[in-house]
Amino acid sequence: MKVVIIAGGKGTRIASVATEIPKAMIPINGKPVIEYQVELAKRYGLTDFIFIIGHLGEQIETYFDNGSKWGVTITYYKEKKALGTAGALAYLKSNLQEDFFVFYGDTVMDIDLEKMLDYHKKNNSDATLLVHPNDHPYDSDIVDVDENGRVKKIFIKPHPVGFISRNLVNAALFIFSPKVLNHIELGVKSHIEKDVLPACLDAGMILYGYNSPEYIKDMGTPERYQKVCEDVISGKVSKLNWKFERPAVFLDRDGIISKEINLLHKAEQLELIEGAAEAIKYINEKGYLAIVVTNQPVIARNLCTLDELYFMHAKLETLLGEKHAYLNAIYFCPHHPHGGYPEERKEYKIKCDCRKPATGMLIQAGKDWNIDISNSIMIGDRDSDVQAGENAGVKISVMIEQNKPYALLDALKTLI
Ligand SMILES: [Mg+2]
Ligand SMILES: [Zn+2]
Repeated sequence: MKVVIIAGGKGTRIASVATEIPKAMIPINGKPVIEYQVELAKRYGLTDFIFIIGHLGEQIETYFDNGSKWGVTITYYKEKKALGTAGALAYLKSNLQEDFFVFYGDTVMDIDLEKMLDYHKKNNSDATLLVHPNDHPYDSDIVDVDENGRVKKIFIKPHPVGFISRNLVNAALFIFSPKVLNHIELGVKSHIEKDVLPACLDAGMILYGYNSPEYIKDMGTPERYQKVCEDVISGKVSKLNWKFERPAVFLDRDGIISKEINLLHKAEQLELIEGAAEAIKYINEKGYLAIVVTNQPVIARNLCTLDELYFMHAKLETLLGEKHAYLNAIYFCPHHPHGGYPEERKEYKIKCDCRKPATGMLIQAGKDWNIDISNSIMIGDRDSDVQAGENAGVKISVMIEQNKPYALLDALKTLI
């Protein structure tokens, strides 16, 4: 399987380097960013590379030559003129007759590529995009997926005022089938996100969003460059690879993040508790996963539909995103054990294993996100929350005061 690295990005000047160099050659801790990518791919047995190079690309060619020093094979495609992120791929059709990875040469990442490839294959996907929540969704391209991860639409920035969506952003790491190349016009400037993927969707192709909590960031600005350098040096980048378990903070929703209103069931009613976004940002920065586990019997009672609940959660993620905070996942129990009401939805009136204090949601999250449950934390405002945490075997399971401004942040500061 081949790896195409798009390294034709314009040259750039950064403070630590006197002369102009291609973005992909920007050093991080003394090593070009693209070299980390070669090493990453090689770790997963991917040794066949095509580098798309452009302006100043000869610096890349001189440095890597045929790749033998790294135990890999590198060939080059030199762009005569810059054709966007996608344009050059159209010239590589004869070289790309099987599924292939696409990396952007200025991305710092440590991703379990084998797991991503398994996901791509399992779903028979034509194009798989790595997606994740980030701390600035309002100015990022948003990938709208269904409950199975299949991409429905891509919303390209800038977004209209009042735009509400889940916080799921394209992180710029792809697996493409050769079919994708049919949607790139030869010799015409085009971009993967803006042009190619929407064209694939319009053509009815199967696209999937692979939602990963692993580290992947571009170095677009001097501040971001600074940040990724720190993260490489501190070990944060490699520590977030899927193969390592991570602790989570499990959070109840009502009364902890959004204001508790009895049987909240409309998006208009949903409001953040003051300080909740700051608290979740704190969780994000501490390297814990932020996972909501919430009982929502409003579904069983037929007070709202699943789509209305998903929209409420999109609003929750949008409000948090405006304040640079994100949740990794929201799990909800739609059930309720006591039947017999005329308006209820019978299929949800069951005794399930997910309604807290049962542990179903925490256990499922643990599997989905490779969570180290025994080092995780549960925070809620009811006995059933605390019991669910204890039943699941988290390290600390606590109750805090309902709807109290900054109560969550204050609690977290004493716990992590
Ligand atoms: Mg609650
Ligand atoms: Zn349930």
